Amino acid sequence: MSNINQSEFTSTHQHSNKEFELLSKALDASISGVILTDNLQPDNPIVYCNAAFERMTGYSRPEIIGHNCRFLQRDDRNQEMRFILKEAIRNGQDCCVEIRNYRKNGELFWNELYMSAIKDENGVITHFVGVQNDVTRRKKAEQELKMQQDVMEKRIEERTQILKDSEDYLSSIIQTVRESLIVLDPKFNVLSTNDHFLRTFKVNMEDTVGKHLYELGNGQWNIPKLKELLVSILPTNNPVENFEVEHDFPYIGRKLMLLNAHRIELQGHYKDRILLAIEDITDRREIERRKDDFLSIASHELKTPLTTIKGYVQVLERLVPENASDKYKSVMTKTANHIDRLNNLIAELLDVSKIQTGNIEVHKSNFNFDKMVAETVEAMELASVGPKIVIRGSIGMDYYGDESHIVQVVTNLLSNAIKYAPDSREIVIHLSLVSDYIKVSVMDAGMGISYEDQKRIFERFFRVGEIQQRYPGMGIGLYLCDQIVKNHGGTLWVDSEKGKGSTFSFTLPLNKEGNDE
Ligand code: ADP
Repeated sequence: MSNINQSEFTSTHQHSNKEFELLSKALDASISGVILTDNLQPDNPIVYCNAAFERMTGYSRPEIIGHNCRFLQRDDRNQEMRFILKEAIRNGQDCCVEIRNYRKNGELFWNELYMSAIKDENGVITHFVGVQNDVTRRKKAEQELKMQQDVMEKRIEERTQILKDSEDYLSSIIQTVRESLIVLDPKFNVLSTNDHFLRTFKVNMEDTVGKHLYELGNGQWNIPKLKELLVSILPTNNPVENFEVEHDFPYIGRKLMLLNAHRIELQGHYKDRILLAIEDITDRREIERRKDDFLSIASHELKTPLTTIKGYVQVLERLVPENASDKYKSVMTKTANHIDRLNNLIAELLDVSKIQTGNIEVHKSNFNFDKMVAETVEAMELASVGPKIVIRGSIGMDYYGDESHIVQVVTNLLSNAIKYAPDSREIVIHLSLVSDYIKVSVMDAGMGISYEDQKRIFERFFRVGEIQQRYPGMGIGLYLCDQIVKNHGGTLWVDSEKGKGSTFSFTLPLNKEGNDE
């Protein structure tokens, strides 16, 4: 069926029979489908097809010859490629298209069709030759790839949208926070800022973004110490924490600003950015100052009448008649004790305000450390019925410092241990010499302190939330202890775990010349 009827060719080719047979065999051996159409006959019919064309289309030669090629398209006629093909045929041009065709069994196949015009010696198009390849598999792969690309693009679009949403979300937070924020590049040029910054400093974007940090305003951030700290943020990742700047700012006047700066770390991106947060603490500091003033005035005012009352009670104690009842005597003692307690509380409050104003007086002298501890413990045991206080170790030498202050520290730590470990049978105070330091530790097996609270208990007026109601106190004992130990060049710290007791320790440096450097 694939033999060529020679008469179909004799009009256009002048080959010998042998050559013709060879050519015909060669074409039949080709894996590409080949057809010839006769352009001089009506409707450009197919006059030749090779074996591959029959295989590709599923039609046999008798079903092909004489037909126009369009039968391969069935009713799929609106393909864009078809119009390109038609146009090329009309203009006698060569063309290559990928077109949807249908096999005899109705199956779709993609036909990569190369169409070329054959002209006679007068330039008249007599035939078209069509060479076709079934590229269905490639087309399918391409379509799948395209589909995957579409899916990927859709995903990227979705991700981009999510990123945009979270960026909007973050920027709305940044714009809402009541803190001024600036993002700096590694050379300290301002990359961006939030509205709060612009409002606080009464400046606009142009005054700020793109400018160097140290040039902003009237050079308020151009402070050598701050510069030094900022420079080390990126290389060492050491943040700047709570740096105070008091300055006469343009437009807003004298203000106290609190600065915190961190390296921005976003999984490897933007590593070389610095976020600077600036908080105006002028008002807060003023309120704190007023509170301190109030405390100082109030405790002074309370102390005077209390001293008078104490004097009168002492007179009354001396005047107690010999035959006074036990009840009478016990009321007198209790009154005197409570006056002493009140006196101590007021003295502590006064100490706090003295520390705040830097007016605390320190009277240093040599005293026997072990004796001081023993006497303090004795006095405490006499004052209340509590757990036994056991002294372990000793210092065995004199210490040069303010004895009454150190007594205050030991007393405070012991009374806290008693107060916050009510069920303990004993409290241990351990004395030792560590290198050229005295070390004192007070250990209890009480309620312990959570890690979070440990960071704050040395602040004045801080008390752990849940104990506020159950135990009396003002939250200044540890603050005073810390200040006193610092005044002596030492450190005070706590090791504790919630529910597992606490150990408060402090060290005091031994100094031959005394500790008043
Ligand atoms: P106060 O005892 O008057 O509250 P302090 O400054 O002495 O004030 O102590 C601060 C807080 O630290 C206490 O309120 C308490 O919550 C906690 N604290 C101090 N000592 C202990 C301790 N030994 N065990 C558990 N918590 C303690």
